[in-house]
Amino acid sequence: MSARRKLVAGNWKMNGTLAANAELLRAVRAGADTAACDLVICAPFPYLAQTADALLGSTMTWGAQDCSAHAQGAYTGEVSAVMLTDFGCRWVIVGHSERRQYHAESSALVAAKALQVLRAGLTPIVCVGETLAERDARQTLVVVGAQLQAIVDALKEAGQAQWIARVVVAYEPVWAIGTGRTATSAQAQDVHAFIRQLWRGAFAGSADGLRILYGGSVKPGNAAELFAQPDVDGGLIGGASLKADEFLGIAAAAQAVA
Ligand code: PEP
Repeated sequence: MSARRKLVAGNWKMNGTLAANAELLRAVRAGADTAACDLVICAPFPYLAQTADALLGSTMTWGAQDCSAHAQGAYTGEVSAVMLTDFGCRWVIVGHSERRQYHAESSALVAAKALQVLRAGLTPIVCVGETLAERDARQTLVVVGAQLQAIVDALKEAGQAQWIARVVVAYEPVWAIGTGRTATSAQAQDVHAFIRQLWRGAFAGSADGLRILYGGSVKPGNAAELFAQPDVDGGLIGGASLKADEFLGIAAAAQAVA
């Protein structure tokens, strides 16, 4: 039993239609049990209003998959964190590996986005994780450490002590995302423990409260073992969040170990 409340967040990525979302949101809402676990849907921008409406009055919350590193202005195509607060957003994923990889997002940019999210009063889910080549080269902790250090440095520079406790970190080994290849629970625990240790070194008082999610091919069948690890506080769920029964199965696994 951990003092940290488990969190299961679905990342729909660039999937969905109005019709498909309506059915998925209805089914997830109907089966959601948030007694011991936060349940979150991160939908594409055009569907956030639909998601907000569908979850209104429920105990589930919702978030975006990205935001701008800027507060406002001449940044065509961008969406600011402040805009998201206008209609009930709670969470924003930043630094997902698909954004680092396909949009060349640096750790400094990811940190700037995280600060925008915090400044707007929202919670950033900051993704970190190594590629297969980096793991094979035994660079996992070096890579994850550097990605996390950028956030730590930005938080220290911002000097807003109250922001630190709001941050959520998601460890997502790139080789496990959408591949069906999950990190073993021991591999996940090793990196999660390292992340907590790094956080303790930087912000001693808030390390025990830091929620660290695991992401990468989490399914109902492997969730319980992953979530039972002492430093795994829930999951960031891609493919399985598009199927209500799978997402609810993963949420049930989080409830069971909470
Ligand atoms: C993700 O997109 O964050 C993710 C973990 O994807 P998947 O669950 O499909 O591996």
